[in-house]
Formats: sequence, C-alpha cells, structure tokens
Amino acid sequence: MAIRAASHRIGGSLLERLLNADGKGYQGGAVDCAKGHRARFVEHRGKELITVLAPVSVSRAYYHCEACGEGVIPKDVALDIVDTGFSPGVRRMMGQVGGKEAFEDGGKDLEVLAGVLVTTKAVERISDSALDELVVTDTIPLSPAAAGCKRIRVLSIAGLLAETMLRISNEDSVSSLFVE
Ligand SMILES: [Zn+2]
Repeated sequence: MAIRAASHRIGGSLLERLLNADGKGYQGGAVDCAKGHRARFVEHRGKELITVLAPVSVSRAYYHCEACGEGVIPKDVALDIVDTGFSPGVRRMMGQVGGKEAFEDGGKDLEVLAGVLVTTKAVERISDSALDELVVTDTIPLSPAAAGCKRIRVLSIAGLLAETMLRISNEDSVSSLFVE
C-alpha cells in the first residue's frame, strides 16, 4: 500500500512537472476570445487538476475579454480541461462508471472511482476465471482485494513518464516512444 501510494506520488509529481514544462500557455499580451475580441493577459493562475495518477497543480496564463466579461485560458483548451477540474482520463473513467455526480466532492474522488472500477466482486470473477493473468498499469489505484489477487499484475508507467520528460527536455520525439 505504501509503495502504491508512493508510486502515485512520484507519477503525480512527474506529471505535474511535465504539465508545467511548457510556457504556461502564454501567447503574448493578448489573444482572441471565442467571439473574436481581443482578450488581454492578466496573470498566471494555478488550477488543481484531478488526474488518474494524483491531484496536480497546473499553472496557466489567464486572459480576460472585457466585451464578453469572461476569462480565456489557452492552456485549458490545449489540455481539454476548460471549466473542469478533472483530467480527460478521469472524465472517461467517470463516463464508464456512470456520471460524475457521485465523485464531485473533494479529494476522495480517486479512491471512490478506483473502488468502483475494481470491486471485490470483479476481483472474485478474475480469480475464478480462465485468465492466467490480468495486466494493468499503475495509473489506476487498486483496491486491497485487487492488490492481493495473484492473477493481477501491475506494470508501472513511471519509467515511461520519466522517458517522456527527458525527451521533452532534450527536444526529442515523444510520439516515437509509442510506435517503436
Ligand atoms: Zn470576447
């Protein structure tokens, strides 16, 4: 359990650095809003984002359109997190387990979500099945029952994240990581 928590912390902190490695979405003193007005740069603002690894903090350039009276945040558009504190991956998981209402309040989001995805019943079915092994990545926290199941093997993506960061830092290809 401690190892799992630690690997999520490490993965989360790598992801946080990765998400903040760019220019925060700053595109100069002004950008166009959705309606074509000029929105002026105000400041960099932080946002807490619940991801499949861990909650992370993302810094983004915040612009304001006076005509619309609304904020414009290019980085939120790029990351697909406009008006939401949940990453696209977490939102997909929510879609699969049915609606986000149950997961809306506070820091327990991930534990609740993981508990639904890997319930004791599901683990029993895997134990009784003809499957030799079920391989999952450590992007999803396992319930104690799942963690104790000998047929479930967990692969860490920490190495992949680290390699991705290294390549971005060296301006090497990241996409080639996934086709080679
Ligand atoms: Zn506008």
